[in-house]
Amino acid sequence: MPALALSAMAQASTPDQLLRWAPQCFGQPGDLKLAALCISEPQGGSDVKNLQTTATRDGDDWVLDGHKIWIGNGGIADVHVVNATVDPELGHRGQALFVVPGGTPGLEMVRKLEKLGCRASHTAELRFEDCRVPADHLLGGYDALENRLKQAREGDPGGSSPTLGAFEQTRPMVAAQALGIARASLELARDYASDREAFGEPIIEKQGVSFQLADVAAELDAARLLTWRAAWMAAEKVPWQHGEGSMSKLKASECAVRASELAIQVCGGYGYVRDKPAEKWYRDAKLYTIFEGTSEIQRLVIGRALQEAAGEEPLHHRFPGRRGGVSGAVGRGTERRSKAGAQLTKTALKAPWLKEFARMTPTNFWSGS
Ligand SMILES: Cc1cc2nc3c(=O)[nH]c(=O)nc-3n(C[C@H](O)[C@H](O)[C@H](O)COP(=O)(O)OP(=O)(O)OC[C@H]3O[C@@H](n4cnc5c(N)ncnc54)[C@H](O)[C@@H]3O)c2cc1C
Repeated sequence: MPALALSAMAQASTPDQLLRWAPQCFGQPGDLKLAALCISEPQGGSDVKNLQTTATRDGDDWVLDGHKIWIGNGGIADVHVVNATVDPELGHRGQALFVVPGGTPGLEMVRKLEKLGCRASHTAELRFEDCRVPADHLLGGYDALENRLKQAREGDPGGSSPTLGAFEQTRPMVAAQALGIARASLELARDYASDREAFGEPIIEKQGVSFQLADVAAELDAARLLTWRAAWMAAEKVPWQHGEGSMSKLKASECAVRASELAIQVCGGYGYVRDKPAEKWYRDAKLYTIFEGTSEIQRLVIGRALQEAAGEEPLHHRFPGRRGGVSGAVGRGTERRSKAGAQLTKTALKAPWLKEFARMTPTNFWSGS
């Protein structure tokens, strides 16, 4: 959860602000710190332009008033990154992010929420009442905010909301968590089905069981590849033009729900009780189709991307353009580097003292591919 807040912060803050607040999102061994990202409100989480918490400038301070709900680490965090409206007329483009340190007067934890799953995490409802933070707690600074508001008022389509950008960025990270639940569930179901006998043979011999496992295995790999693609694109700085981040979260979360439900079904009565972790994974998995944008909102994002791309082809992501300079000539994945790597491996295998080293290093170490 600190990573979600940090991602929003990285999107919106100045380099100085990031240096100041990022260490306070994690702390150090022996002195742990927590961060919370506070976006959702009781009247709705999906419709981000309808958020009603306000931030008003008062002298050298900003004053926050409003109500937040479902906030991971809310009220116990050292750093709260809070979305608030500065100009309600402008919808999500009139919003900004503020840092509210834990213990700031006016920040109140109303209650800790009792959840179906993911119960090891703290999720809370918060109230901000006349909650005052210094002007430099506005992420990105005042001039950048004014510029963004001016662009929005003039109808300029640029200058997106920092909040929406942050959610988009964290989707493969959430997808990866869901994949973990799906994989664990599938492995449990596979092992149980191979062991458990009914009608004189292991139940995995029954196609009614094995076909369902096969479907989930294929869905899991597909979701994993979508997640890797989105993460790879982000690392290569290829923009997600076709909703690739949303695709990864949509498929991984729905696969986690299906896989964990199947694990319960395959384990029969043992799946329904706490003797096995399947029931916990089922309760945990459901959250992944809800938070960080529900499945419906992911479909909305993908649907919009499809509409925007109407008439364009091909309908898949673009590969990064050719890199220039040293990286383009000998960087990871270039032909020259691969050839040099293969040559080095051959040479290494001939030298007895290097042979052992080469054996111990991963096969792709030399080529860097
Ligand atoms: C355990 C947990 C932890 C969370 N952690 C955080 C956190 O740390 N920080 C934070 O800010 N938020 C957090 N959330 C909030 C989460 O992001 C919201 O619950 C989510 O965005 C949905 O908002 P909502 O619950 O208000 O549902 P609503 O927005 O009211 O939606 C209700 C239903 O209507 C559907 N719907 C809404 N609009 C459309 C549409 N246009 N088309 C089709 N269907 C639609 C939704 O998909 C959903 O099924 C958390 C939630 C939970 C449960």
